[in-house]
Amino acid sequence: MTITSHKKNVIFYLIDGARPDVMLKLIEQGQLPNIQHELYSKGSFTKGVTCFPSTTGPAYLPFLTGYYPVDHDITGIRWFDKDTYFSKNRWDRNAMRSYCGYEAKYFNADMDPQKPSLFEQYDRSFNIYNMITKGVKEGHDLTRKGKTGLYFKAHFYHEHHPVDKAGHERLMESIEMNPQFVFAVFPSVDWDSHTYHFEDDHTKESYKIADNSLGKVINRLKEQGRYEDTLIIMASDHGLSATTHHLDLGNYFSKKGFRVLEYPKIWTINPNLAVFISGNSFASLSFLDQKETYFSADLKKNHGKVLDDFVQEDAIDFIVYRDNEHAYRIQNQNGEAVIRIEPQDLLTYRPEGADPLGLGALETPMDRDQSFKATYDSLYPDALYQIHQLMKSKRAGDVIINAAIGHDLRDYWEIPEHKGSHGSLHWEHMHVPILTNKKNLISKPVSTTYIHQVITEWLGKPE
Ligand SMILES: [Zn+2]
Repeated sequence: MTITSHKKNVIFYLIDGARPDVMLKLIEQGQLPNIQHELYSKGSFTKGVTCFPSTTGPAYLPFLTGYYPVDHDITGIRWFDKDTYFSKNRWDRNAMRSYCGYEAKYFNADMDPQKPSLFEQYDRSFNIYNMITKGVKEGHDLTRKGKTGLYFKAHFYHEHHPVDKAGHERLMESIEMNPQFVFAVFPSVDWDSHTYHFEDDHTKESYKIADNSLGKVINRLKEQGRYEDTLIIMASDHGLSATTHHLDLGNYFSKKGFRVLEYPKIWTINPNLAVFISGNSFASLSFLDQKETYFSADLKKNHGKVLDDFVQEDAIDFIVYRDNEHAYRIQNQNGEAVIRIEPQDLLTYRPEGADPLGLGALETPMDRDQSFKATYDSLYPDALYQIHQLMKSKRAGDVIINAAIGHDLRDYWEIPEHKGSHGSLHWEHMHVPILTNKKNLISKPVSTTYIHQVITEWLGKPE
């Protein structure tokens, strides 16, 4: 095959679960020499913000489509659709979903056809390990064969690193195939962080595998004479925090007398509460005693006592529910605050007895950029807009739950035990590294949706 060296192309490294602070520390220690010299020094670095819930799979959509998962009506790695549940029944295909099991195959079809993926838009796109394969051409899903076996061993025997090393080999092959766009997932930072700790030696080794891959990829691109035409982006979909305590939500609400519908226990007879967890630090609750989505007045009347007790649990940072059509209420153990939607979709935030987001009063209505800037370096980056856009979807449930750092929301079904979690709005989960090999290309704080725009600008708008 002849290589057309004039053609612009993009190599996207998705280092799943990489934290910007850990990456910077390793760079400072000289442990990631290729990332340090080729990206951090000669290119650009910024601390970006992912979407809420900050969970693998859905959080790839901003890069791939330029839209948040909820713009595809995908509200997490698991979701429950109250409308469909009541208007049809629980066995309807769109009543509920878990992308963790065999329903992962529905992910492509669940995406909004009006918001195509880069795979659909650029013919010579290649995929490595990404579960979202919508639009990948025949023969371009380079890990389609062998992935299942490697992932099985990774999960049950903690043999994580062979997966990334095999992925690197496929990435080297892709470079010989005249690619326009390569989306390469390196999953081991996430897996090691879940299994050990986000700064364990195993995890650091995973960062180094990605660094080693980058060096080899750049050398080969230089040999081919196409390095200048290649935009390399390295980013992650979420961070992770260390987990030492587990509160199993399903068990918790069962003990409170609820008949809980949750994955994988979806056969519960006559359920009255649906509990859906994503990334283990985010969950949504749907109360099944009312067909319509709950607003706060009825929610407090029917379930206020249960929820008031619930937010006193150490595992719970805060919960969010709809006050009315134009406001959301955030409640923690100290009290409540309100996010209000003003005309033109502007947002304000006002503590009412408590300040769960730690922002103080933000009374001047803010647009998208203003609310991003006001919260970027807070405990909960981009919290106002992320809550707003998530709660616009009924699939977010009646109540969303943000777990406290150190805790997660799933125990009983989790084998092996998780020592790391993500999914929440906390900065440890929301901040992601974004590096490129082009000087000053992305050096300001951005949302991960912005990466999609940078990629399409580099490649030229698709036909
Ligand atoms: Zn992930």
